[in-house]
Order: sequence, then C-alpha cells, then structure tokens
Amino acid sequence: MIPASFDYVAPGTLEEALGALAEHGDDAKLIAGGQSLLPVLRMRLNAPEMVIDLGRIDALRGIREEGDDLVIGAMTTHADVGRDPLVAEHAALLSRAIEHLADAQVRHRGTIGGALAHADPAGDLGAPVLALDASLVIAGRDGTRTVSAADFFEDVFTTAVGDDEILTEVRIPKHTGWGAHYEKFVRVSHQWSIVAVAATIRSDGGTIAEAAVGLTNMGSTPLRARAVEQALVGQPANEDAVRRAAEAAADGTNPPTDLNGDADYRRHLATVLTRRAVLAAAGG
Ligand SMILES: Cc1cc2nc3c(=O)[nH]c(=O)nc-3n(C[C@H](O)[C@H](O)[C@H](O)COP(=O)(O)OP(=O)(O)OC[C@H]3O[C@@H](n4cnc5c(N)ncnc54)[C@H](O)[C@@H]3O)c2cc1C
Repeated sequence: MIPASFDYVAPGTLEEALGALAEHGDDAKLIAGGQSLLPVLRMRLNAPEMVIDLGRIDALRGIREEGDDLVIGAMTTHADVGRDPLVAEHAALLSRAIEHLADAQVRHRGTIGGALAHADPAGDLGAPVLALDASLVIAGRDGTRTVSAADFFEDVFTTAVGDDEILTEVRIPKHTGWGAHYEKFVRVSHQWSIVAVAATIRSDGGTIAEAAVGLTNMGSTPLRARAVEQALVGQPANEDAVRRAAEAAADGTNPPTDLNGDADYRRHLATVLTRRAVLAAAGG
C-alpha cells in the first residue's frame, strides 16, 4: 500500500527537530532509519501529517568513550554499532545481538535509537541494553533527562520518550573483559525473535563473578532474568551449574501466545536458550 500523504522536514539540528515536534504535536512523527516506521505508514496503521527526519543531525550519530561509559548516538546504524571496535571491547553483548538482527540491508538503514524507541518486544536490542545496565538520554525543549533501561521500556511499543521528546544517546557502562552471547530462536533466518536470551558474564578463574541475563519476547517489554543471575554468581562455569541456574529463566515472565508458539513453549525455550547463552558467554 502507499502511505497517506504527509509533509516532510529534515532539520539540521536537534533544537530545530524539537521545535518542529512542538509545532506539529500529535500530527508529527519522527523518522530515523524508517525500517519500522515506513511499514507502519504503508499499512496505514499511522498517518502523520508531518514526518520529521533526524537523518541530517550529525550530532546524533557516532560512538565515543566518556570515562567509564560508552556513548552511542541514537542515529548510529546497526551496521556501524555492530562493526565498532569500542563496542566489541566494552559492550560485546551488543555486537553479538546485532549479528542476529534482520539482514544487511536493514542493518545499514536501521538505527539503535529507532529500534529502542520503537520498543517491539521481539526486537533484538532491548534485552542487551537492559542487561548492560544502559541509560537512555532523552531531549526535550527544556533540556535532557536520563532514564535507566529498566525504566525506559514501559509496554509494547511504549517507552519513556514523550511525544515532544527525542532519544539522543545510549550510555553503556563499560563491560570490558566480559564474555557475551546472544542466543536467538527463530524458525527461518532473519525472522524476529520467537524468544532470545542475551547473556554477559564476568568470570574469575573459572568461577562466575558477575552475570547479567536479558530476555527478548518473554513479556511486553525486555526483561532481566534476575533469579538466574543470582543463582549463577559464585558458581563454576560448567554445564551442571548453568543448567540448574537456567531453570529459573522463566520466573516472573509473561510470554505471549501467538502463531509461533504458546506461552508454555516460550517458557521452555527461555530455559534452554539461557543455558546455551550463559555457557557460551562464560566460555564453557
Ligand atoms: C524486514 C525487516 C526485518 C527486521 N528484523 C528485525 C529483527 O530481526 N530484529 C530487530 O530487532 N529488528 C528488526 N527489524 C527492525 C529494525 O531493527 C529497525 O531498524 C528498528 O526497529 C527501527 O529503527 P529505525 O531507525 O529504522 O527507526 P524508524 O523506523 O525510523 O522509527 C521507528 C519508531 O521510532 C521512532 N523514533 C525513531 N528514532 C527516534 C528517536 N531518536 N527518538 C524518538 N523516537 C524515535 C519513530 O518515530 C518510529 O515511531 C526489522 C525490520 C525490517 C524492515
């Protein structure tokens, strides 16, 4: 289908973009890589009168170190994040997840900010960002505010970003030296996750010293498998210990039932994929 007609602006600065949002209010929609928005417009699930393109705002693009944090601009593409050496060194879990995100075409257009703001529960970046304890920087006309990933995802397709705000940065505390693995279950390649598990582990002499595990598509938002994390710390990184800890992977989750699988099937998948992801992240 062809989208309903709309006006279009491509501001050169964040301030201009925020101004355009304020001017057009509910009639406006931001566009980043367009990989989720354009299908929505083509299916006429949304029909904004004004589309505000963030693509000319260079300040929203790029990856840099800032003290103990890695800072990724919202308009940085999945491809650029995925091949960045700083991300590989300090946030390897993100690199691993991007390897499984869609196909090369989508990765070259889609952006980290667009994916997180879109907040599809089956999206592959929410769980890694949550497991890495990231913070999201949100700009409005009165200044910026920073929200933890735990507070950012509110519901299906709903985040802490207000209608008059723009997500500008993802700040990730460095996880240097942590092992990482993203285990994604799909029926055919390039599909959205039926369930996926993002695990990052700091080992110390064969013992798991710290563990973070995020779950994709096990509820309306990305989730942390806290019971698994607690059960892993202090354990040897071997098959038996990880299998026991992974049994708790579905605790506190509320997975959907759809044509790809029912909730019980997803709970089973979560335990299996958690075992695999943790063992791989711990080098076991
Ligand atoms: C064929 C196909 C397969 C895909 N497979 C996967 C997959 O396997 N895994 C996966 O995770 N994703 C997948 N995607 C989605 C992809 O990751 C998109 O890039 C992502 O969901 C949206 O990013 P975008 O930059 O294209 O955002 P857009 O589509 O431009 O925007 C998405 C939404 O976010 C809002 N938005 C964008 N940027 C900002 C911002 N900075 N601040 C506030 N709001 C903003 C927009 O207004 C819009 O509502 C797939 C997409 C396609 C087309």
